[in-house]
Amino acid sequence: MRQKNSKNILKFDKRLAFVALSLLTILLIIFLTSFFRATPSYHELNGFTLGTYCRIVVSSKKNSKVLAEIIFNELDRVYKKYNPNDPASVVSRINGSTDWIDVDEETFVLLDVSIRFSKITNGAFDPALGNLIQLWGFDKIAEKVPDRIPTLDEINRALQRSGVDKVELDHQRRRVRLLNGVKLDLGGIAKGYALDRAYQVAKEVDKDCTGFVEAGGDIRILGPKFGSRPWVIGVRDPRKPDAAISYLYLTSGAVATSGDYERYFELNGIRYHHILNPKTGFPAKGAISVTIVADNAVTADALSTAGFVMGQDWEFVVLEFPKFGGSVLMVEEDGTIRKSSTMVVYEQPK
Ligand code: ADP
Ligand code: MG
Repeated sequence: MRQKNSKNILKFDKRLAFVALSLLTILLIIFLTSFFRATPSYHELNGFTLGTYCRIVVSSKKNSKVLAEIIFNELDRVYKKYNPNDPASVVSRINGSTDWIDVDEETFVLLDVSIRFSKITNGAFDPALGNLIQLWGFDKIAEKVPDRIPTLDEINRALQRSGVDKVELDHQRRRVRLLNGVKLDLGGIAKGYALDRAYQVAKEVDKDCTGFVEAGGDIRILGPKFGSRPWVIGVRDPRKPDAAISYLYLTSGAVATSGDYERYFELNGIRYHHILNPKTGFPAKGAISVTIVADNAVTADALSTAGFVMGQDWEFVVLEFPKFGGSVLMVEEDGTIRKSSTMVVYEQPK
């Protein structure tokens, strides 16, 4: 009898130990998985495309390194397709013809969206300034700094061969025609479009990936840092490269800045920068930097360029742009900072 009892106790102990061990293992697994989920590691890829430095920071349950490469290839694809200086680009094909040109759906939609941004910004954003941009030499500024500014006569002639009103879209047959020798330049929106495409391809590979993609200071968020924290983005002081005038806390969406310090040359102490006022044909005056937060990068990019052009009309920019989906932070020529009331939300650490 005694013997039987002690045998039972022994059996019971073994079972208890087994249960305890199983429980411990499960707890360990839960701890380890939650630990790794809470602190995912980020892969970083730095490269040069879109005419600027790009930085991809991504974390995915799939292979983050491969995903970063897929994102980079997409940025580069969009750049090549819409680079007006590349003879093989779609933009060069359109610019080289005075007749109707059939285009693919992606191009048609991008042109249509560009024209819409032009309309809502009263022509400040203009995707058909190719001739003016060439005249000023901003298309080649990386290779050759201009040694003179164009004459008034040259500017007036280039203005006649510029402007979105000379771009015709045929929605039925998906084709485009440029009138009066007009040339497209999508430099004010292509980077934003590339960043939105980067987001799309990343989400097709892994809808839960997080991180961000940056191209020359413009940023598209893929998802919150470590799955829940905001990314902190410094808004550069346009006159002090290493100082920030504000910090933005973003878990989604995009931010873009247009500034007079990005691409410019100086002659006789005057700065001539690359964002042109389509009405005057001269570099736009009024603002020295405009930052836009929006839920997509196309909106942020197009509105930052338009807001910069409309610098002298800051009230329109600050009051109307939020209705188009853009929150505004503008620095005027004299250093005054103007913000839309909607911008304050992004300046709060969450
Ligand atoms: P960046 O590309 O330096 O970030 P922007 O997004 O403001 O700056 O784009 C500037 C580019 O847009 C110019 O280099 C030129 O190709 C084009 N551009 C210049 N003026 C205008 C304008 N008024 N509307 C649309 N695009 C413009
Ligand atoms: Mg822009």
